[in-house]
Amino acid sequence: MSMEEFNMQIYSCSRCRLWQGAKHGVPGEGPLNAKVMLVGQNPGADEDELGRPFVGRAGRFLTKMLTEHGIKREDLFITNIVKHVSPQNRKPFTDEVAACLPYLTAQISFIKPKIIVLLGASAKEAPRVEGIEYIQIIHPSAAMRFTNMREKFRLQIADLSKRIQQTSK
Ligand code: SF4
Repeated sequence: MSMEEFNMQIYSCSRCRLWQGAKHGVPGEGPLNAKVMLVGQNPGADEDELGRPFVGRAGRFLTKMLTEHGIKREDLFITNIVKHVSPQNRKPFTDEVAACLPYLTAQISFIKPKIIVLLGASAKEAPRVEGIEYIQIIHPSAAMRFTNMREKFRLQIADLSKRIQQTSK
């Protein structure tokens, strides 16, 4: 199955209730041979509008931080635990996460990243695969809002940049 066909499954998915309030499914984007995968919690309003991950304020902040540390956003595969926006951007329910995780599992097995970066606590739900290094960092929306977290986030991105350079694909 091609990635386009895979994404079509997400666009027409009704395995959980989240599709009902969404304009677009947001499968994720990036090279299919990406060394690094970024995983967030769920698409927000801007992502729902455009059908692309991390394109709102937090996404722009993330992209800026990555760029400042020599990481090209276009080299990463960026996605979320669930692929449709949730009402009022609430945390996805356990059954919604469970329904959607097979998509992320499939993306991981297709892309075979060396590193998976978990953005925020909810991304901890990402399936664990032997041989992949998992790096947990602060969610960019929290880092953007809270000054005390911003510096820590900057250091985490700096560490990630070093780790990427040390890792071959
Ligand atoms: S969030 Fe995931 S499981 Fe739920 S409808 Fe969307 S694609 Fe399907």
